[in-house]
Amino acid sequence: MNTKLKQSKQTLQAKGLGYLEEHENHPTVEMIYEDLVKEIPTISKTTIYNTLNALLETGIIHAITITGTETRYDSEDFPHHHLLCKSCGKIIDIDIKCPYVNQNEIDGHRIDERHGYFKGDCRECLKKKDKR
Ligand SMILES: [Zn+2]
Ligand SMILES: [Zn+2]
Repeated sequence: MNTKLKQSKQTLQAKGLGYLEEHENHPTVEMIYEDLVKEIPTISKTTIYNTLNALLETGIIHAITITGTETRYDSEDFPHHHLLCKSCGKIIDIDIKCPYVNQNEIDGHRIDERHGYFKGDCRECLKKKDKR
């Protein structure tokens, strides 16, 4: 790969990672694309997809498949669990002490990733329902 191409690839990866660090809404490829295309009009969804995949391989970002229909991306470097709100569709970081979160081996199996998925109603949606 030539240096210029390599550089632009690194820039994109930094952009993608920066985006995920700024946005805590666990965005989809589409959400990232719609924001980045305003800044880089030549960018394509495929480019973003490939960039995210490269970042996934390095383990800096994580893919969340909690909705079952789409992949959402997360930049948090420490493992944590997620709540999907069935009312507003938000994916929220859950801060609980999980006994398995730092375990690299369970029953002789090697663990690389840990995902805990919870589904329910988020605080904000519950508040809104109370007011009615
Ligand atoms: Zn909600
Ligand atoms: Zn998260």
